[in-house]
Amino acid sequence: MRIIDQHVHSEFSFDSIESIENYLKVSDSPIITTEHADFECFCMNGGDTAFDYDEYAEQVEELNKRYDNRVLKGVELGYTERVKDRLLEFIDKREFDLILLSVHENDEVDYMDSMDRNSFREILPGYYENIIKSVVDFHHVVDVVAHMDFVLRNKEYEMEDVFEQESLIKSALEIIIKYDLALELNTRGLYQFKNGRYYDYLFSLYKGLGGKRISIGSDAHRIKDFKLNFDGAIKFVEDRGLDVSNIKF
Ligand SMILES: [Zn+2]
Ligand SMILES: [Zn+2]
Repeated sequence: MRIIDQHVHSEFSFDSIESIENYLKVSDSPIITTEHADFECFCMNGGDTAFDYDEYAEQVEELNKRYDNRVLKGVELGYTERVKDRLLEFIDKREFDLILLSVHENDEVDYMDSMDRNSFREILPGYYENIIKSVVDFHHVVDVVAHMDFVLRNKEYEMEDVFEQESLIKSALEIIIKYDLALELNTRGLYQFKNGRYYDYLFSLYKGLGGKRISIGSDAHRIKDFKLNFDGAIKFVEDRGLDVSNIKF
């Protein structure tokens, strides 16, 4: 079985300079990019990260002519409640093969910022509450809930801090399952940020609640991270009795 990497950024994302064509050159199979669309971000001093869709669609079309229709179109929506209408407007009447739903920040904190254990424990419930809200508001238009380990990155924490939030985490997973969305295994989170214990815990809750579908994505922003450790990630999912739901070819 060969699968598409379902979380990839190119130069259409504000934090990547990799061309889509470079991903095609290292791959003999279909690819998808999932470019950032966040609005009025704390991380951008109130600015947007959203890309020019027309330019993106035009480039994908041009590449598809030269590369045997191997490019699919995707987007990673950065949810905050305040901008949900702008996000819906961004995807409205536009064509995407895959839509990721992410929570990157609240209006005061970028969830990837480093912080001490006390601050981490303070922001954690709000993080899961925002994921729940994001699914309530976007389940009808998205495919995957991305990187539920985002809040753990660059933090000092213990797993006990996460266990304290089990009822909220379960509520988030229940609603993901209810709407049949896939839960992402982000290989950057698993391998670079070493959140294996957390994913193990998260997936055991997910499976216990009846969840099955896992989307694997590298979250690559450059070629060298594309399909990062996918063989290990597929095994990680299958060893836990879950299904890899990625587009297969
Ligand atoms: Zn993200
Ligand atoms: Zn991403």
